Amino acid sequence: MTDFYEVLGISRNSSPEEIKKAYRKGAVKYHPDKNPGDKTAEKKFKDVSEAYEVLSDEKKRQVYDQYGAEAVRGGGMGGMGGGGPGGFANMDEALRTFMGAFGGGGDSIFESIFGGDSGHDTGPRPGASKKMNLSVSFEESMRGIEKEVILNNFVHCSSCRGSGAAKPTSLKTCSTCRGKGQVHQTRGFFSMSSPCHTCSGRGQVITDPCSACRGVGRVKQKQNIKIKVPAGIDNGMRLRMAGHGDAGEDHGPNGDLFVFIQVEPHSFFVRQDDNVHVEFPITFTEAALGCKKELPTPMGGVCKLPIPEGIQSGKTIKIRGEGAPNVHGHGRGDMLVKVVVETPVGLNDKQKALLKEFADTEGAHNSPQRGSFLDKLKRLFTSA
Ligand SMILES: [Zn+2]
Ligand SMILES: [Zn+2]
Repeated sequence: MTDFYEVLGISRNSSPEEIKKAYRKGAVKYHPDKNPGDKTAEKKFKDVSEAYEVLSDEKKRQVYDQYGAEAVRGGGMGGMGGGGPGGFANMDEALRTFMGAFGGGGDSIFESIFGGDSGHDTGPRPGASKKMNLSVSFEESMRGIEKEVILNNFVHCSSCRGSGAAKPTSLKTCSTCRGKGQVHQTRGFFSMSSPCHTCSGRGQVITDPCSACRGVGRVKQKQNIKIKVPAGIDNGMRLRMAGHGDAGEDHGPNGDLFVFIQVEPHSFFVRQDDNVHVEFPITFTEAALGCKKELPTPMGGVCKLPIPEGIQSGKTIKIRGEGAPNVHGHGRGDMLVKVVVETPVGLNDKQKALLKEFADTEGAHNSPQRGSFLDKLKRLFTSA
């Protein structure tokens, strides 16, 4: 039984805003862009998307509340032939829901998930999109950085302005297709059209090719490109640099450049979503007596951390707003400091004597956890 509220981690009387917020959180966490090849994340992404699809629609939500998930799952995807017990059968549906809820593409620096058009076999062709990996340090990912890279892309030939012809007059209309780029053949009842071989579908032929590009209209050229990596970028995210792929053929649009970001691990900060975790070792006397510590923050600052008297090892202290900046500009995460109490080693005779003296003064109230454990143990034996 699927509980859509449970899937989104919200209560049954959540408002539409709360539903959307919960979906954003889940969808961003499990988005395939952030979890390439991760089947579990894929499933979760589909699950939260399906839950949102139903709960964000007032009518569907009513039906679901009354009759359950099967009532709102159309005959199309659940049941026969489909994979498993209903739900979103494929990623496209889930992604459509995601795009519907939050938009996508447009001027967003993040790639819209649907690929561009392809499949034109004649006329202007878009240039190829390129992929590259870019490694940034943890500090750079926190503050954002501009990196310069060298690309070896096809660009329009400047000598012929991309036409491939030495002079404008050396471009002639193709006589085979009379400039249409397509030829028609009739075989029996069928009339078929196919790209013209003489001009490769361009409709024009070059009588005198440009010497710089040998008639291709494009040349490879090294270019320095500045990549603006936004603050808060996380490992595995992907930036899209529109138009920075290869130049198109016959004045087709340029391809894009996709930059896959790799954030180098830090020696003690570990990022999880927008929160940053750090383990902080303290001595057992500091833990017992309490202390004030200064701690570097992920953004490069310093924060004061008061450690209360009697803190236990493993306890996490949250420092609000000192985590990673959200890459989409939704504030900052928290810094979560896990206090680890270190048992002293290498004691000398004097220290041992002092500790023995201390041990003699210890009472049950100094170790309440141990006390309650012993109580339970005693009850276990007396009841047996
Ligand atoms: Zn032709
Ligand atoms: Zn040229």
